[in-house]
Amino acid sequence: MRLDVVTIFPEYLSPLDLSLIGKAREQGLIDLRVHDLRDFTHDRHRTVDDTPYGGGAGMVMRPEPWGEALDHLMATGVPGEVPHLLIPAPGGVPFTQAMAQELATQPWLAFACGRYEGIDERVIDHAETLMPVTVVSLGDYVLNGGEVAVLAIVEAIARLVPGVIGNADSLVEESHEDGLLEYPMFTKPPLWRGHGIPEVLLSGHHGLIARWRRDERLRRTAARRPDMIARLDPSDLDARDLEVLAEVAEVAEVAEVASSVMQTSKVAQFQADPPAVAD
Ligand code: SAM
Repeated sequence: MRLDVVTIFPEYLSPLDLSLIGKAREQGLIDLRVHDLRDFTHDRHRTVDDTPYGGGAGMVMRPEPWGEALDHLMATGVPGEVPHLLIPAPGGVPFTQAMAQELATQPWLAFACGRYEGIDERVIDHAETLMPVTVVSLGDYVLNGGEVAVLAIVEAIARLVPGVIGNADSLVEESHEDGLLEYPMFTKPPLWRGHGIPEVLLSGHHGLIARWRRDERLRRTAARRPDMIARLDPSDLDARDLEVLAEVAEVAEVAEVASSVMQTSKVAQFQADPPAVAD
């Protein structure tokens, strides 16, 4: 996979030399190229910003260096191929695991890191005539620049590229992979500062452990992300899932969302015919 990042702070991307992404680059799994936007300026001060039309505070990134940077990227690609351009912005569509999965299948991504009040809108309009473009937000808060967002987005995508993470199984059960958060994790020692670990994890009973983990995923998701519970497909929930959701609904403010999921599900059938606990 090829990744190009255009920024006025190339050194900001140096963490991508480290750890698994760094190793993937060494192995040639990821071809990451960082470009200094100022290399596409032509004045003595290497200017990339100017005052906004219409007035107002702050500066806006001028379109010309961005246009030249995009031309340069396209000139260095395989003829006929274009990157999918991602433009981080707090006003973009929220970046999600589903988006990371989709982008991880693409051969070439490019990132345009904004600074100041952002990039002249015509850069997006122009880029859209040349390549797929997505304006993407890391979350509902404002950063100083796109670099931190790109670090997070690149890491989320690159770890899904086959070969980057040694044990691909570790990607399967993670938070957000199937609409639930991950279950709690424990390692040695079995007793630490008076805190033990759940007995079931020592039982060696794979069925019970799997059920406990599923229960914990439901409980944790209901407590921390009731919005995710509300989005679950009721047909994916078994009788024990409904029982766990009913328990958390009784004790937490997620009552409303949990009960709305349950109302649209097999809850009537569940109440009439309480399930045996799966093993
Ligand atoms: N004036 C912009 C607005 O209100 O939408 C904010 C500009 S922000 C100070 C400067 C740059 O930081 C943006 O162009 C973008 O690259 C980046 N940025 C800030 N918050 C972000 C977020 N939540 N997600 C992704 N990128 C963000």
